[in-house]
Amino acid sequence: MRRVYLDNNATTPVLPEVLEAMRPYFGEHFGNASSIHHHGQETRAAVERARASVSALLGCRASEVVFTSGGTEGDNLAIFGLMRDGDHVITSTIEHHAVLNSCKRLAAQGGEVTYIPVDGRGLVDPADVKRAIRPNTKLITIMFANNETGVVQPVAEIGKIAAEADIYFHTDAVQAAGKTPIDVNEIGCDLLTISGHKIHGPQGAGALYVRKGTQLEPMLHGGSHERSRRAGTENVPGIVGLGKAAELAVAGFEREDDRADQKMAAARDQLERELLDIEATGLNGEGAPRVPNTTNIFFDGIEGEAMVIALDLKGLAVSTGAACSSGAIEPSHVLTAMGLRPDRARASIRFSLGKQNTEEDVDFALALIPEMVTRLRELSPVWPKLSKKSVVST
Ligand code: PLP
Repeated sequence: MRRVYLDNNATTPVLPEVLEAMRPYFGEHFGNASSIHHHGQETRAAVERARASVSALLGCRASEVVFTSGGTEGDNLAIFGLMRDGDHVITSTIEHHAVLNSCKRLAAQGGEVTYIPVDGRGLVDPADVKRAIRPNTKLITIMFANNETGVVQPVAEIGKIAAEADIYFHTDAVQAAGKTPIDVNEIGCDLLTISGHKIHGPQGAGALYVRKGTQLEPMLHGGSHERSRRAGTENVPGIVGLGKAAELAVAGFEREDDRADQKMAAARDQLERELLDIEATGLNGEGAPRVPNTTNIFFDGIEGEAMVIALDLKGLAVSTGAACSSGAIEPSHVLTAMGLRPDRARASIRFSLGKQNTEEDVDFALALIPEMVTRLRELSPVWPKLSKKSVVST
């Protein structure tokens, strides 16, 4: 059976070049990067080459890149590495759970947290961030691009506000990296998280950008790896894979007449246009800037979970939202924060493209979805009554 994967915000397939780059580090190049002999020097050199590649992706110095196990660790390290008793943090209601649950934990320990709401497009208003600043505000953590909608936040404006107030600014760029060019100096952030498996690198490898001079307390206590910011023997194959994926991401932005992000946007736009032609559908995040690979659409009268399962049986992989909460009955916290009614949030599907996707993949999806929506609506006891009500109430 033909299978098409349009769930690249959950994870991306490792590119063949990435796998090839990693392969020797599972075999002949096995040394511990901290060893001073030949074997260690070989892997140390590979780790430092990868660090340079990641720094080129982010526009920072190599020494400002800390390798981690992925996005979750990067977010945790940024937050718990900075926050101390009595500190206040500002975040948003639509963050990934790696940030939201870290903030929840901080609050349980007596920390102060302010959650900035978003508007109907899924955007944080920088003026709200500014208003939320208190004398004890230590950190602002607002994501670059949302994993469910692809909506891009005004991070450079927030960075300016943070700098003026002398507050640290962290941004979770896990869903922005590889899809849109990133420059930490343009954003004005002090910390920025990326994850290997969202940019066609391996799972279990990521990086945190830490601006020079940032006083970050490590979360793991052990050796002095990563300039004492993250103890533990380096995951050399993972780091090498992340470095190669970063290199390929940069190259994708540099191909003047064949830019990877523009190609992805063209395929996404075609998918989106044709899906929005279906009756009683709408775009979540309409009117907001978005990364080029994501579209999140509601199909009134259907159950998202049922649609995901039905499409999977036909060979198409999509998602109802964050992978970690699929299976949960609760509607998406991101879509409800944007003001969607619970039934409409549950009727929403995320389609996310990757570098491997082709126009044929989009055609495959478009050949399946309209018919599937009709079938699921025929089976729905609330259709078409619910859809008429939904259309007038928004
Ligand atoms: N932040 C965002 C925005 C994400 O989408 C994800 C993963 O879905 C993470 C953080 C967590 O990254 P990882 O899976 O590498 O821990």
